[in-house]
This record gives sequence, C-alpha cells and structure tokens, in this order.
Amino acid sequence: MFVIFGTRIKSKIIAAKRDSCLGCNKPTEHELEETSKWLTLFLLPVVSYKSEFIVRCKACGLDNNVSETRSRSFQRNAKLLEK
Ligand SMILES: [Zn+2]
Repeated sequence: MFVIFGTRIKSKIIAAKRDSCLGCNKPTEHELEETSKWLTLFLLPVVSYKSEFIVRCKACGLDNNVSETRSRSFQRNAKLLEK
C-alpha cells in the first residue's frame, strides 16, 4: 500500500486594522497574515506544525514578523476577517 506524505504552506490574511507605520510614518491600513506549514497525507493537509505571523502595511508594503502573542493582541484590536 502506498502512503504519500508531504508538506504544504498556506497563507491567509486573518485581520486588518488602521495603525501607524514605521516605514511611511503615516496611519495606514495594516494586515495580519498567518503563514502555516502543514503535513499532508495523500496531498490533504492534516496537521499544522508551524505558524508565522507578519504584519504588513498596505501603503508601503513594509513587513514585520511578529510573535503569536503580538498577533493575538493585533487581532483583539482589529476587525477580524472570515477564516
Ligand atoms: Zn507603511
């Protein structure tokens, strides 16, 4: 019997809010993007084993890696987008 394992990376925008940007020094819209790595079985994602969070300025595109704790704080103060 064949068992096919693999990995897959999924990214999605999970929240957005208006905040001041360190890059363009203006209050602009920021997005919180979650990138998660998944183990796949028969090409289907089964288990998420690592997540990274990035806050991105929509005006200048500046990316900031943030911790999971900081991402939760961002989500509390933001409008949550549909998962
Ligand atoms: Zn900016």
